[in-house]
Amino acid sequence: MRFAFPAFAALMLLLPALPVPDFWITQSIYIGLYSMVALGLVLLTGVAGLTSFGQAAFVGIGAYTAAFLATKLGVSPWLTLLIGASLSVATALLLGALTLRMSGHYLPLATIAWGLALNYTMANMEWLGKYDGILGIPPMSIFGVDLGTGRGLHPLVWVIALLAALAVIRLLDSRPGRAIRSLKNGSTMAEAMGISTFRYKLTAFVLAALLAAVSGWLFAHFQRSVSPSPFGVNKGIEYLFMAVLGGVGQVWGAFLGSAVVRLVEDELQVLLPQLIGTSGNFETIVFGIVLVVVLKYAPDGLWSFVGRWRPAPVRRKDWDGAPPLAQRDKPARGERLLEVDAVRKQFGGLVAVNDVSFEMHAGDIVALIGPNGAGKSTTFNLITGVLSLSAGAVRWRGQSIGGQPSRETARLGISRTFQHVKMIPEMTVLENVALGAYGRSKAGVVQAMLRLDRAEERQVFAEAERQLTRIGMADRMHELAGNLPLGPQRLMEIARALATDPALLLLDEPAAGLRHHEKQALAGVLRQLKAEGMSLLLVEHDMDFVMNLADRVVVMEFGTRLIEGTPAEVQASPAVRAAYLGTEH
Ligand code: ADP
Ligand code: MG
Repeated sequence: MRFAFPAFAALMLLLPALPVPDFWITQSIYIGLYSMVALGLVLLTGVAGLTSFGQAAFVGIGAYTAAFLATKLGVSPWLTLLIGASLSVATALLLGALTLRMSGHYLPLATIAWGLALNYTMANMEWLGKYDGILGIPPMSIFGVDLGTGRGLHPLVWVIALLAALAVIRLLDSRPGRAIRSLKNGSTMAEAMGISTFRYKLTAFVLAALLAAVSGWLFAHFQRSVSPSPFGVNKGIEYLFMAVLGGVGQVWGAFLGSAVVRLVEDELQVLLPQLIGTSGNFETIVFGIVLVVVLKYAPDGLWSFVGRWRPAPVRRKDWDGAPPLAQRDKPARGERLLEVDAVRKQFGGLVAVNDVSFEMHAGDIVALIGPNGAGKSTTFNLITGVLSLSAGAVRWRGQSIGGQPSRETARLGISRTFQHVKMIPEMTVLENVALGAYGRSKAGVVQAMLRLDRAEERQVFAEAERQLTRIGMADRMHELAGNLPLGPQRLMEIARALATDPALLLLDEPAAGLRHHEKQALAGVLRQLKAEGMSLLLVEHDMDFVMNLADRVVVMEFGTRLIEGTPAEVQASPAVRAAYLGTEH
């Protein structure tokens, strides 16, 4: 398999020199052009989970920029590439800022709207030639090599397409790539690891637009003319179809999907009118049916059939001896760390947390206990900025942090796990834990694509392995997180939280669902953390577990703080007994 890529690349670069019919070259160019757009959608829709029907409009921006500037102003192709790319990036930034914060179905709808709007603009502007478009784009040449013919242009198309694929593959296996891969599973966990999910949605959106614009630029030079119809919403849907057919989230699926669509479409355009007797865009209907069948029988797309007999790639362990990531300055033992001051949270008429107050000092282990629905998890969410306060204040080392988003509290050194495990099931355990080290590393998209991030990546993975070893899970680091039982998933979350290098760790029911020996191992780890001076706030129902570990216990019921005291005091309290006896038998 190692030779598959070089062999494929060599074939694509040499194809024009082989005695193949011109028709093949044309088809291959279209496949390359479509693949770039579909590749953007693999990133945007397949990986990041953001559906766009409007990519054809970005192709149009690239194509029209090239056509207009070359024919009207005689601008060189390289400059039109730069300008078209910048224009599509600017458009994507603007549209993204307006629409990417929208949730659910609004985004796909918005993509249709802008796809129509941009296409309408192309078709109605006098200076863009209206429906006739722009004709007579001069041929390109590089170093005197004529790229005006299909055979001339073919290598350039495929060099760009393959480099784009390589860049996306590299990106996905990097710090920003893991952030983009975390987008599909909701924003709460990613934000709690310090990731700005909006920023990475925008990143994926801009990259997809950029790929589309480059495809459009090449398209204009291939056709030597542009007209509005290939950039409409129909085509936008077709691009999405290619990405889905090939395999959402699979880089090479974009190529496979594009090839299948292009070749089948061509056959259908000849075949269907013969069968039906009239001509029309019947292939759209056939594609619609095919899409339904594919989604039903091969929801992972056609590439999953190729991937089936390909061994799963195992990450080579290359991080031994990597220097450790920098650690934050830890608060001195006894320093006042966290003040929860009369915090309140109302959900409509329900007061989930009712003026609860308590304090933590560095090195404290505090347990938050109480019956189900008492407001413990909501209190966690208020401290970590997942939820906004209805009233009250949260102070961290004297500074108010109420109202800050959770990625900011993460940056300050407050890390957490979730009552309902939040992870990226299709990433390995190691990669999930590496998400924790996001805020301790820096590599960006360009560095990742150029592989200039490898030294830092080794540090990140060394840290992830160190935390997994600490929690007793190093032997499972290469497994997919989604395949683990619940207990190990919880432990993985703790390792991920530890990878953020926290000063305060909030654990929401860490022992729930753990087997007896796992529970004991967890207690051992928490005791070790305590000995190292870590501050812990934990919600836990297992009283033996809590009472052996905690210095102080805060008891909540119906949103209010019932009492606070040492484990012995709390156990002796009649009010606590009543609260527990009242709800649990
Ligand atoms: P605990 O963790 O102590 O079991 P929670 O903090 O999860 O309790 O919930 C406290 C109360 O707030 C419950 O009655 C729960 O139904 C309600 N609640 C929690 N989150 C929400 C939400 N996002 N919207 C509405 N009600 C909520
Ligand atoms: Mg809870």
